Amino acid sequence: MLAITNGTIIDGLGGDPRTGMTLLIENERITALGRQSEVAIPRGAQVIDAMGGSILPGLIDTHVHFTMEFPDVLRGLLTPPSLRLLLAIPRMRATLEAGVTTVRDAAGAPAGLKMAVERGIIAGPRMQVAISLISQTGGHGDGFYPCCADIGFFGGSFTDIPNGVADGVEEVRKAVREVLRAGADWIKLATTGGVLSTSDAPTSSQLTVDEIATAVYEAAAQEKRCMAHAQGSQGIKNALLAGVVSIEHGVYLTEELIDMMLKQDAYLVPTLIAPLSVIEFSQGHPDLLPPMMAIKAVSVVEAHQKSFRMAVEAGVKIAMGTDSGVGRHGENGKELLLMVKNGMTPMQAIQASTAEAAQLLHLKDELGTLEVGKLADVIIVDGDVLNDIASIANPANVKLVLKDGLAAKNMLEVPVPTLAGLA
Ligand SMILES: [Zn+2]
Repeated sequence: MLAITNGTIIDGLGGDPRTGMTLLIENERITALGRQSEVAIPRGAQVIDAMGGSILPGLIDTHVHFTMEFPDVLRGLLTPPSLRLLLAIPRMRATLEAGVTTVRDAAGAPAGLKMAVERGIIAGPRMQVAISLISQTGGHGDGFYPCCADIGFFGGSFTDIPNGVADGVEEVRKAVREVLRAGADWIKLATTGGVLSTSDAPTSSQLTVDEIATAVYEAAAQEKRCMAHAQGSQGIKNALLAGVVSIEHGVYLTEELIDMMLKQDAYLVPTLIAPLSVIEFSQGHPDLLPPMMAIKAVSVVEAHQKSFRMAVEAGVKIAMGTDSGVGRHGENGKELLLMVKNGMTPMQAIQASTAEAAQLLHLKDELGTLEVGKLADVIIVDGDVLNDIASIANPANVKLVLKDGLAAKNMLEVPVPTLAGLA
């Protein structure tokens, strides 16, 4: 049994932070949370002194790509698929160490990676996976390069990552069924172009409403939902018309689109850090990033931030997502800082990264808040995150990460049983 004391509880429910509390954890669940005077610490419990830090639910990042890191096309060409998969292992560890205990991998990771985490072979956040990116020919997920080489989705494929390039209702239907057969929790569609594709623009629409609706139907038939890489306005609209529940990036939102999102309870996963990561990479490695990608990244930043601000003001549901893989893994906390810089309160940014993200992933009965009965995904962050959201942006400030009541990271003096796969 673990007892966490002497910190500020930010429970994810949005109420005032509470001090002078004790949180008890037995096996993998939270068993008590109350005032120190009311919750007795059982004899033999391991007492964890949070030393005045912030105690939060484990963070949830609803948009990562573990099998990518930086858009380095040349490196991608020289990396065999087996190595590409193994490279995910340290990235998953870095993500845990940033305080993220649950992710949605938004394409590129096969279901085997999630299974390895569930079996304790690899230490990583619990995962939902989209596996493939369903895209039209020449669309955002088409790995065909101008040299006429087809390198597959973002530079290399595995046999259990189906090729998502599909045109027309029947091809899309088949592609969705193949991705579901491969074990996908989500169907990811590209309904617009993007920054890191070679032959389209972020504003161009991809897939028709009929094609997208077919994907939504086939996913729903197996109790799954669709997420859309959607940057341009028309492609966002098409995704919403077809019943997509999770709009990724949402660069060019309009009042009309925001109304649709509100009416449909659709989520925005903003990934504010993604284009900034591309710009940073292009400045550091102008020789490695294809120039049209750098130009596109610069072109979207202003509209992206403006759209996010509009969505926050209108009360659109927002779940935190970083698109890590476009940039470095393990810097997930920086997204919270960007969300606050662009119009959220620190509490809103924390909720988007906990309770709201859990709701999008249909995990809210188990995760996303600090409440009795929930899984003990708990992090301790040095400092007062509500007054200084930057404290959570630096992984060095994340002192303890518990996933299912086991330590995925422990910088404290107290010994805590360790998560499997960390040896
Ligand atoms: Zn992405």
